[in-house]
Amino acid sequence: MYNNKMSKENSSKQSTYKNKLEALIEFTKSVNMLGYDAVFDMFKQNLSSLIGVDRFSIFLLDEDNSNFFILVHDHAEKELDKLKFPIDKSPIMKESYNRMSGVLEDNFTESKYVTDIKRKKYKDNFAYCLPLRAGSKLFGVLNLNGNSQGFFDSDGLQFALLISEIVSISINNFIQLEEQKELASTDGLTGLLNLRSFYEQLNMEYERSIRFKNVLSCIIVDIDCFKEINDAYGHQVGNTVIRELAVRLTKQLRKVDTLARYGGEEFALLLPKTKSQSAMVVAERLRTNVALVPFETSAGPIKVTITLGISDTLMNGVDSSDQILVKADAALYKAKKEGRNKSGIDEE
Ligand code: GH3
Ligand code: MG
Ligand code: MG
Repeated sequence: MYNNKMSKENSSKQSTYKNKLEALIEFTKSVNMLGYDAVFDMFKQNLSSLIGVDRFSIFLLDEDNSNFFILVHDHAEKELDKLKFPIDKSPIMKESYNRMSGVLEDNFTESKYVTDIKRKKYKDNFAYCLPLRAGSKLFGVLNLNGNSQGFFDSDGLQFALLISEIVSISINNFIQLEEQKELASTDGLTGLLNLRSFYEQLNMEYERSIRFKNVLSCIIVDIDCFKEINDAYGHQVGNTVIRELAVRLTKQLRKVDTLARYGGEEFALLLPKTKSQSAMVVAERLRTNVALVPFETSAGPIKVTITLGISDTLMNGVDSSDQILVKADAALYKAKKEGRNKSGIDEE
């Protein structure tokens, strides 16, 4: 009788184990094969039930490691979607982060981790917070809440740890991919788009301007006599000037505008739904700002001027994305010849 009970228990344990293993294999396969959005959808569908808890949430740390922000969760509340708070606001997440290990609390409301955040929504007091990391670098936490179905037991802790490692690998892959994409599309000195991404953007904006019958303007900005700045103060100071100009140009732009580093001391701007006459106003604002306010550098304040060439898609002969650049270049060349520190449109 006793043996019989034992073997029944064993076989039911074995079948639970087999089911879990199968679910784990499916989960791991999906993580490995799916893209960003699909993986997060899959987390929403499967993560909690796979581990045997009621709810999960994944938070990442922001760039300076001072705030947690939500990445994905399966809680019912929509307001969680935009959650971001200083790491001190969640003592359990902070402790998991500091200790770099899981923190389990099955009587949360009576624990030292309790905050003023309402926990009524949870059916019980179970909370397990696991760090997410790549090597020794911690980048977030996985929160597990609610053990109302009683699935979560001591084996569950190890299983949850395994899942947190898989989740870590998956999210770290996405983070690295984003970083690589950003490195490939931005300029190292200024953080602006590089030439390759500028051309992509130009083609897209040009096509859009044709489709929606909008005017697209282009401004090419070139620092005057920049070689003299390099020669007089050195390359590093020259770099500071380029960086500072990038900041000033960024400040003057609308969200829809594109700004890129076009060459060494040259920048290119795209202004959708803007005629060259209006682009001229933007250009003049930039030019006067640069000319009036000297650039702070390690060699002291330096006076800088810029020359700007402007074109738009309404100009004669502009029938391709290349042509808008050719026209802006021609306008820049003309304005340089006319004495620099000038914005110009070449109407020919
Ligand atoms: P102009 O008024 O005709 O534009 O004269 P300019 O001296 O600005 O033009 P030129 O094309 O003769 O010289 C540009 C210089 O910019 C030459 C190059 O060494 C320098 N340069 C290019 N890229 C960088 C960079 O990333 N950092 C620094 N410091 N200098 C750079
Ligand atoms: Mg130049
Ligand atoms: Mg120049």
